[in-house]
Order: sequence, then structure tokens, then C-alpha cells
Amino acid sequence: MVAVTMKNEILKKYHEGKLAHAFLLETNDLERCYKDVLELVKEINCPFNYSNDCTEECNICTLIDNDNLPSLITINPDGQFIKRDQISELMNKFSTIPVFTKYNVYIINQAHRLNTESANALLKFLEEPEDNILGFYITNNKENVISTIRSRCQLFYNNYDEDVVNVNDEVLIDVKLYLNSIYKNNEDLLYNKTHMSGYYKERTEWEIFFNTMLYYLKDCYSGQRTDKIELVKEVSPDNIIKIILLVEKILKYIRSNGNIDLILDKFVIEMREYYE
Ligand SMILES: [Zn+2]
Repeated sequence: MVAVTMKNEILKKYHEGKLAHAFLLETNDLERCYKDVLELVKEINCPFNYSNDCTEECNICTLIDNDNLPSLITINPDGQFIKRDQISELMNKFSTIPVFTKYNVYIINQAHRLNTESANALLKFLEEPEDNILGFYITNNKENVISTIRSRCQLFYNNYDEDVVNVNDEVLIDVKLYLNSIYKNNEDLLYNKTHMSGYYKERTEWEIFFNTMLYYLKDCYSGQRTDKIELVKEVSPDNIIKIILLVEKILKYIRSNGNIDLILDKFVIEMREYYE
């Protein structure tokens, strides 16, 4: 996993005493990346032998978990941008050396939302770095991070594996169109017959189609998508889980050489149970 590499790389540098002062982390999953950075901060600061988890009655790790450690500050966009005031407050707090930990650590979530003013305010940290301050800039597109920040950070790519290795956008469009078309449609079986039968020539293409559907539904369930179709907005989370299980079952039928037309009909008939 790339994420593990990022953490290990930074820890290695830490133990060698060659730690950079600021890191730009480009990721496909902002939330997971943020969690990994918190893990890293624990691993650096935990007074016990931290490895993957802290099992001790540990003040530091508990404070980090509760976002109460004074020497750790996370900045999130305030509306559209990260504002200058937020940065000024950060710099005030970090004008003294850390008391309980080795470093003062700041984490900028969505670093591409730093505007010119707030980025300029941060440059002091980056141009005259102090040994006891570490900065993590997390973004999903480093090209959108202001170049004065970008050029002063050590870059890491932090992509996470996804359930489907490559989600093909065209297939995803087909998936959404299909789910929209059969949702609460009394003629769902007819739709299968007229639109879906023979739509893909190869069995492997059907497998990709339902794998993409599986990926999309899981993503919707975990709340990460902004492109939710009516079905996933209206159906209860419990039923979304059941639909996910149904898709997994359908995938098994496809892999075991079942007749595609019959499988599609089975799918729409079972789907009906989950529309409230
Ligand atoms: Zn600990």
C-alpha cells in the first residue's frame, strides 16, 4: 500500500534526523490521508512503543484522538477558502515551543483552498523553518496548490487502492443510467429486453459493469460521492447494504457462466424489494 510507504518513508527520515519541515501529500482520499497523518503524529510523539496502535494509558494518543493536543492543529477550509485569520491564529499558537511533544504539528486539509493571502502568511513557516514545527499539506490535486507552497514542500503521493482498480467513467455512466432506468419502473423487465440484452458482447464486460456498480454503491453508502442518483438518495442505508450484497451475488452468477439475460432479469426483480 502506498499509504504505508508514505508513513514509513517519513518515519525513516525522522529516525535518521533528516526530516523535512513541510510535506505536500497528494491523495485520492483526503479523509484517509488525514487519518494516516494523525497516525504518523502519534507514532512520532507517543512515549510508548507505538506501532499501529497505542495500547497504553497514553495521554498523548488520547489527546490526539480527541483533537485536544495543544501542539497539533488541523486547519480546514472555512467555506470556500482557508482564510488568513485561521493562519494567523495558528502562527500565534505556535510561537512558543511545544511543551508535551517534540514538535508543533499543523495539518492543512485541502491545501488547494489556501488563497494568496493565507498562503503568503504561511510562507514564514516554510521559508524560515524552525526545527520544532512540522507541516502537512493534504490535497487531491497538487497542481491547484499555490506554487510558492508547493515548491517548498516535500511531495508524497498517497493513493489508496480502490475496490475496482480502474473505474472507467463511461461504464460508470452506463451503470447510473441503468439504475435510474429500472428504479421504480414497472417495465423494468421490458427495459432489460429492449436496452440491455446484448449491450455488452463479452461476459467480462458485464463483470466490469457490475463491479463498477458495486464500487459506486459502496462509495455512495460511505457518503463520499457527490454524484448520487435518486435511487441511492431515497433508499435507506440498510437497503443499500442489501443491494450491495445482491450485486455481489449477481457477480458470482456472471462468473459461473450463468445466462446474462436471465441474470439481468433476476437482478431487477430482486431490486424491486428494496424500493420503499
Ligand atoms: Zn500513545
